[in-house]
Amino acid sequence: MSISNKKVLIVGGGIAGPALAIQLIGQGAEVKIIEARTEAEMQEGLFFGISPNGLNILSGLVDISGLYKEYVPGTLRFYNSKGRQIAELDASYQKAAYGTSSIQVKRSAITNLLQEKLNGLGVPIEYGCRLQSIEHQGPKINIDTNKGLLAGYDLLIGADGIHSRCRKLVFPQAPSPTYTKMLSTGAVVKIPGWSDASEAVEMTFGEKAFFGFSTTNTGTVWWFNNYDWEQEPDRKAFQDPSFQQNIKKELLELHKNDYGKIREIIFAGSDLFAYPIYDMPPLEKWHTENVCLIGDAAHAISPHTGQGASLALEDSAVLAKCLACNPNPGLAFSRFQQLRSDRVARVIAQARKVGRAKSKPNPIANFFRDLVLKFFIHTEKKKMDWIYGYDVNKLDYGSSGTS
Ligand SMILES: Cc1cc2nc3c(=O)[nH]c(=O)nc-3n(C[C@H](O)[C@H](O)[C@H](O)COP(=O)(O)OP(=O)(O)OC[C@H]3O[C@@H](n4cnc5c(N)ncnc54)[C@H](O)[C@@H]3O)c2cc1C
Repeated sequence: MSISNKKVLIVGGGIAGPALAIQLIGQGAEVKIIEARTEAEMQEGLFFGISPNGLNILSGLVDISGLYKEYVPGTLRFYNSKGRQIAELDASYQKAAYGTSSIQVKRSAITNLLQEKLNGLGVPIEYGCRLQSIEHQGPKINIDTNKGLLAGYDLLIGADGIHSRCRKLVFPQAPSPTYTKMLSTGAVVKIPGWSDASEAVEMTFGEKAFFGFSTTNTGTVWWFNNYDWEQEPDRKAFQDPSFQQNIKKELLELHKNDYGKIREIIFAGSDLFAYPIYDMPPLEKWHTENVCLIGDAAHAISPHTGQGASLALEDSAVLAKCLACNPNPGLAFSRFQQLRSDRVARVIAQARKVGRAKSKPNPIANFFRDLVLKFFIHTEKKKMDWIYGYDVNKLDYGSSGTS
């Protein structure tokens, strides 16, 4: 099928949506991309990991040198609650093995690069435009948004994240994300006297909760914390300064017996970013004949292995190739799900395992963890090859024969 001259509407201007848009424009499609957040709101979010499998796709779309203006290398050093290093997961070998090495960057560093590229292609993202409903008119798709009707599209791509409106509209029976009883909080702060760039992210198994931090090459300190929080908080509650203050108090209490640096970091700065961590049950189908979900909308992953952005970029590359190689969109979407679902399920299973390791520490388990983690991490490095070495050019994009 040639996607050339097809009208494609992409909902969601995060990572998967813009990455796919760039590739489909390259194939001659007429692309429109909408994003519910305003341009200013797109700067929200903390830093996250992007690994070689994602970076290698991103570097084919944009000049990734911009990411290194403010970043932290992807090496992880693990500490116990007293500040003793118990293991290291080195990332420096990755460049030779995969061409790029994992890094930590702000989400907006990636979305800004993709946005600039789309501006340069003459297809700017329409911000502040939220999908509300979908209507099929013969083979064409119309959607209603808060800014009015968008009509006459051949294909609709739902790249609208974990709480996807597109998924709810197209697959009303699909399961919703479930709250994992864990919160992720964090902030970006300046601490007087702290300016030396970190060689690694410091990950601490605190006595009661997990804590990670690093200092970027510009001297900014980034930190995050995962901890158990029984009741799912209202998403609006996070904007309330008193809720944020309560969280800060709770964090200081949780880390009161951990080594001093952690409390110093929590004290610094006032604005916290906090969000509940969800788990997404697998969807039976990611697509219809002319609508397809990608990225977190199709298979959201918890942040524990830092693979959300990389999987979204992989999806974009695989879907673009499926659309180029299959005789009709239904077949292309079907092939896309076939090529992606097992891999995505494996990465998600791994993230769940890591999440459980961060949760509910107990002294006996901690004692053994401190002893064995470095040996375990050593074998873990080899086990990551299937994730980092993923090569979208080696897949068979031919028609699956069914849609
Ligand atoms: C504001 C924000 C901050 C984040 N911060 C972090 C972080 O600090 N660490 C981390 O690990 N992960 C974070 N994530 C999640 C991470 O970005 C994703 O896991 C990953 O990038 C997958 O990319 P995606 O494009 O599939 O989804 P997302 O990056 O979530 O992008 C989906 C986009 O769709 C838009 N959208 C949603 N509903 C509609 C609608 N009805 N109409 C139009 N547009 C819609 C959203 O505003 C969003 O920009 C964040 C996500 C968001 C939205």
